[in-house]
Amino acid sequence: MKKIIIRLDDVGGNDWQSYMVMNSFLTLKIPVSYQVVPDWLTYERAEHIKKMVSEYPEYAEIVQHGYKHVSYHRTGQQKKFEFGFSRSLAEEYNDILSGNLILRKYFGDYLTMAFTAPWEAQSQTTLQALKLVGINILLASPMSLSLLGYSPEVRTILFDIDTSRKIDGFRLQRPPQDIINDINKSTKDLIGIVLHAKELESVDLFYDLASRLKQLEKNGFSFALIKNLFY
Ligand SMILES: [Zn+2]
Repeated sequence: MKKIIIRLDDVGGNDWQSYMVMNSFLTLKIPVSYQVVPDWLTYERAEHIKKMVSEYPEYAEIVQHGYKHVSYHRTGQQKKFEFGFSRSLAEEYNDILSGNLILRKYFGDYLTMAFTAPWEAQSQTTLQALKLVGINILLASPMSLSLLGYSPEVRTILFDIDTSRKIDGFRLQRPPQDIINDINKSTKDLIGIVLHAKELESVDLFYDLASRLKQLEKNGFSFALIKNLFY
């Protein structure tokens, strides 16, 4: 049976969209891996997320998404990055550890020891830092992984279907049926999907997507969380 793994990036800030998406996927009982930015959390937001997750523990997990989600690129550099490139192992390790401690404190067992780098920017140094913190799973796009190269110590999970696309610097939601078509066409046994909530233009489109995804369970697909794959 083909497995689908869904992640929602950039959770933990004060946008309403992430919480709306969380709510719709949780109530439909579609498992989603929530990528939380540790430094964005306030006590209230962390409590709110934890409450939602604890009501549906089989359908949610928390994964670390960077630390502050700030970019260290210099003017003129095109690619944004929080990890990789010019940052030292000590800097990356300190950031990943600080973030991990915040998430452990708030979410305890709901935290899965995996990592997604902001802007999917990571290097072999990042992998070393992750390993030192005790994280050995990295979620990333095929494109960013091709730049990274192989590492035997960190497992990677590929996410190659995106629910939005960038046009002239703006992120636009794709029609839900296009995403379903991509899933049906995929030849992989484990299909990774990235949801973006912040640029949400239409709530209806998201509900539509969530209910079409739910239908896939009747067509030979099943949903998984990262913690179900490796633990
Ligand atoms: Zn991000």
